[in-house]
Amino acid sequence: MSVAYSQRKRWHNHTGNQAVEPLRLYKPSTLAELQEIVATAVSDGVSVRAVGSGHSWSDVALSEGYLVETNNLGRPLEVDCLRGDWGAEPLERVEAGMRIRALNQVLDKKGRALSQMGGYDAQTVAGVISTSTHGSGIALGAFPDFARSIDLVAADARVHRIERAGGPTDPDAFAREHPEWELHQDDDTFDAIAVSMGCTGVIYAVTLAVTDAYWLTEVRELSTWTQVRAGLPAALEGNRHYEVYINPYPGDDGEHRCIVCRRNAADPRRSRTLDRLRRHWWIEFLSRLKIIGLFGRLIDRVSPDGAPRRIDQMLSILADNEYSGPSYKVLNIGSANLLPAYSSEIAVPFDRHREAVDTLIATADRHRRLGRAYHTGLISLRFVAGSSAYLSMMQGGDTMTIELILMTGTEGGLELLAAHEEALHVLGGRPHWGQVNWLTDETVRELYPRYDDWDAVRARFDPEGRFDAPFTRRVGIPAAAR
Ligand SMILES: Cc1cc2nc3c(=O)[nH]c(=O)nc-3n(C[C@H](O)[C@H](O)[C@H](O)COP(=O)(O)OP(=O)(O)OC[C@H]3O[C@@H](n4cnc5c(N)ncnc54)[C@H](O)[C@@H]3O)c2cc1C
Repeated sequence: MSVAYSQRKRWHNHTGNQAVEPLRLYKPSTLAELQEIVATAVSDGVSVRAVGSGHSWSDVALSEGYLVETNNLGRPLEVDCLRGDWGAEPLERVEAGMRIRALNQVLDKKGRALSQMGGYDAQTVAGVISTSTHGSGIALGAFPDFARSIDLVAADARVHRIERAGGPTDPDAFAREHPEWELHQDDDTFDAIAVSMGCTGVIYAVTLAVTDAYWLTEVRELSTWTQVRAGLPAALEGNRHYEVYINPYPGDDGEHRCIVCRRNAADPRRSRTLDRLRRHWWIEFLSRLKIIGLFGRLIDRVSPDGAPRRIDQMLSILADNEYSGPSYKVLNIGSANLLPAYSSEIAVPFDRHREAVDTLIATADRHRRLGRAYHTGLISLRFVAGSSAYLSMMQGGDTMTIELILMTGTEGGLELLAAHEEALHVLGGRPHWGQVNWLTDETVRELYPRYDDWDAVRARFDPEGRFDAPFTRRVGIPAAAR
């Protein structure tokens, strides 16, 4: 068998801010092809890396060697070799390249749903696990925390099934069913592999814990940071999902306007008017128009000093009494995802959330005063349960994330994001792997106390740095450096 590929074909991420011409671009559609690609990379002495749907703004998915697109690996699979005593937690096993959107449809047909997701659904299952993509809700973890089993093609081109101790796979059934594969059931291996940004192999399939289908009601209320600050942390416990959009610039009264977004379980049988069963239709419509992005950029250029007022206006139009629907529709923030934008996100330990917002405001103010550089999009504060995955941004405890969204073309935008990352570093702020970041080997080691444990597991699955990439070299964490 010889898997087809394109040579030196340009690949770019979905926004086009990251591009590469890999030696070979593969699009496998079977596990056997995936294994052959990795074996070929090893025998050719070339690096290899999987890419999901290219929804990372950072360089995390680039490969100059062989790049493996996974869009043809998006099928649902049977949960195989399940232990007889697994218990009541429902599981869903799918190929790694399935998009969250398709997964939601598969689950919905079975009366199931994800317990939690981020604000968008175009990413792939392996992509969101690999960068610790998350939503908001302090009792709910990030995507890797819902993974129960990961089938990974490592540098030996074999399939390794990785689970926690006591994971769902029955070892005897597994040995009979997959004599060529290897089963790892220990927490150390799982916690290292779960968030690996493609550095430990190519994920073929994932088994996720899911839940019964449920509805949510979303309410978005205007508030101020003074009020929100006083209500934390109690508000987190009182709401399944709680998220805040904040204007970093004060209004004339010195207050920072916010929108507080609460999403809680809802009864689907209650009768509701049509406007409560959809988002503001005109915001959805306008966000889809390319001209809106261009128009926004023009206004930002002509009148940069009007940015604080425009952010207040954006917050005002987001207010909404009720939007109810199936969980996966309400958790998706809608067409706002389609606006031409890029973003950084910094995760800070929850107990430093007040200092973090003070720091955010001070940095925004400094750049406004000194450089006339302004935020042109919303800043979202989200709250996520701690994770045991060694390289999750949530590793070690509950976290507040600060997402800094800027419209494409924002004057001084990258400098502004870099300044936020630097200022929040002092508070232990960890940049999102999949969003714009300036991580270095020094900051990675400082921010992730389990880095060496992660690297030790990586060495077992990738002893020669076959999954190294421009990203690992930029950040200074190539396996080859070991
Ligand atoms: C519009 C938009 C909205 C977003 N919303 C959120 C949000 O709400 N919350 C949040 O936390 N983040 C969010 N993000 C960030 C995004 O979820 C992450 O960057 C995510 O990793 C992208 O997934 P992807 O499938 O596109 O993967 P890619 O960007 O293609 O790849 C991401 C990483 O996963 C690795 N990878 C992908 N597939 C495999 C595989 N099969 N095997 C091994 N490694 C693999 C890649 O090598 C790379 O390191 C958003 C991004 C965008 C553009």
